[in-house]
Amino acid sequence: MTSFGRRGLPRPIYNGMPVPWTAPVRGGVPVLGRFGLRRIAEAELEGLCEVCGLRLTDPVFFFRAPVGDGSHIVGDLIPTGLHRRCARLTLAHCPHLWPADGPESIPLDLWRAEVGTLAR
Ligand SMILES: [Zn+2]
Repeated sequence: MTSFGRRGLPRPIYNGMPVPWTAPVRGGVPVLGRFGLRRIAEAELEGLCEVCGLRLTDPVFFFRAPVGDGSHIVGDLIPTGLHRRCARLTLAHCPHLWPADGPESIPLDLWRAEVGTLAR
């Protein structure tokens, strides 16, 4: 069992990159740039940060879907919330994200209303 999926900061490092709590681990190796669906569902249902796995705080930071991300409409809110520090970490290490994609922040209550699936 590796520690890649543990919660909290600082994140474990793999190939010089911080490994998000939601990254799937296959054969003991994290798959960066992918999400484990179960972890994402857990993050949305429990209101957890997608990077560190800890409960989201007010305000919630988020990104908008970048150009070339086939799974979202460009400019749409990506429904995984982050802490400010985790959002900065994401921007620094995710090559598909540009500052134009965020992070933006909204109050926690509004985030819950917007994302809709979070536990209330
Ligand atoms: Zn976080």
